[in-house]
Amino acid sequence: MVAALAALAVVTTHAQRNMTPLAEEYVRLVLALGQHDPDYVDAYYGPPAWRQEAEKIKVPLTDIAARADALARELGGAAPAAGGDEMTVLRHRYLTRQLAALQSRAAMLGGRTLTFDEESQALYDAVAPSHTAAEFAAVLTELEARLPGTGTLLERYDAFRARYVVPRDRLDATFRAAIEGCRQRTAAHVPLPPNERFTVEYVTNKSWSGYNWYQGDYRSVIQVNTDLPIYVDRAIDLACHEGYPGHHVYNVLLEQHLVRGRGWVEFSVYPLFSPQSLIAEGSANYGIDVAFPRGERVEFERRVIFPAAGLDPSGAGPYYDVLSLMERLSYAGNEAARQLLNGKMDAAAAAAWLERYGLYTKPRAEQRVRFIQQYRSYVINYNLGKDMVARYVESSGGTADNPARRWQVFRELLSSPRLPSGLR
Ligand SMILES: [Zn+2]
Repeated sequence: MVAALAALAVVTTHAQRNMTPLAEEYVRLVLALGQHDPDYVDAYYGPPAWRQEAEKIKVPLTDIAARADALARELGGAAPAAGGDEMTVLRHRYLTRQLAALQSRAAMLGGRTLTFDEESQALYDAVAPSHTAAEFAAVLTELEARLPGTGTLLERYDAFRARYVVPRDRLDATFRAAIEGCRQRTAAHVPLPPNERFTVEYVTNKSWSGYNWYQGDYRSVIQVNTDLPIYVDRAIDLACHEGYPGHHVYNVLLEQHLVRGRGWVEFSVYPLFSPQSLIAEGSANYGIDVAFPRGERVEFERRVIFPAAGLDPSGAGPYYDVLSLMERLSYAGNEAARQLLNGKMDAAAAAAWLERYGLYTKPRAEQRVRFIQQYRSYVINYNLGKDMVARYVESSGGTADNPARRWQVFRELLSSPRLPSGLR
């Protein structure tokens, strides 16, 4: 028995040792591809010399593709025995799939064209369901009843929402209050390293509304885009999504448990166009509901956020009633992206579709089209990602009536290498 255990330990150590050079080659390939695509490397905090090497050499796309093919073959030969240690199996599967996404992205940069669904499958390991205009029209009918008055529904919705804009001079105080609320709720359930922290910056002229730039060493820079008026719901949404328990916490837990705890260097780089992004965006969006279940959210908005923004707290209930209907229109954005990328709509038609079925005002629709043109099928990571993470957590016992279990499953998801296809 003792001899058998000792032999097993040697096999495990051997398998892990063999993975290190493969993981390092993957990191180098991600950094090399980043030289061809400025949006590709979202975060990197591995050895600085590797990045300098990538910048200096600028490996051609064809060489990256050839090296990626060779690495895929090596990874195929290094598969751990099925039924072995779960984390070892997950690690191998994850690295293999992340590499496949890198191969697809390299092919796209080399000129290969994919349909919207082919691209999302190749890059994010998932395909978003299709929805018809009639499904969104049904939600619009419900909104019609909620927002009586004259003018079009979009005009009425815009006028209603205008009452919930955070004044520019109250923005920072409102965000600080939201971040504190999100941090407290997260820290009560997720042990975080004592020196984790982030800074918030306000920026303009971006296609996104917020961004987390993870720096390593448990530190993030969070940027908030102030091009357009910011509605009060964005305070908690962005504080949770970009900060606690969203992107900042996800990156901190990966660094703590996988990079430092296990020496898995592949997690020190985050390629944006990869399955990791579905987990990242899906968990960041679902994390808002984990930290603030519906009733608690409205209570916190009334008591803390609306006063910080100088808004009348009695408006919080009606506002969130309308927003929960609006969430059902989020897949209208995926349809616009699908039609635009498949060449079935041009940019003007996609913006018009967003105005009609997503109730985007013209400037927001145009901003969203710019986002779609820059990030393409990435858009599915937000709503489909959220739905997939929610189903995974809730089917694992993390239902709304069991918050302790919900936090536990959520925390474990953020600390382990799980693929979108592994959530089913
Ligand atoms: Zn995000």
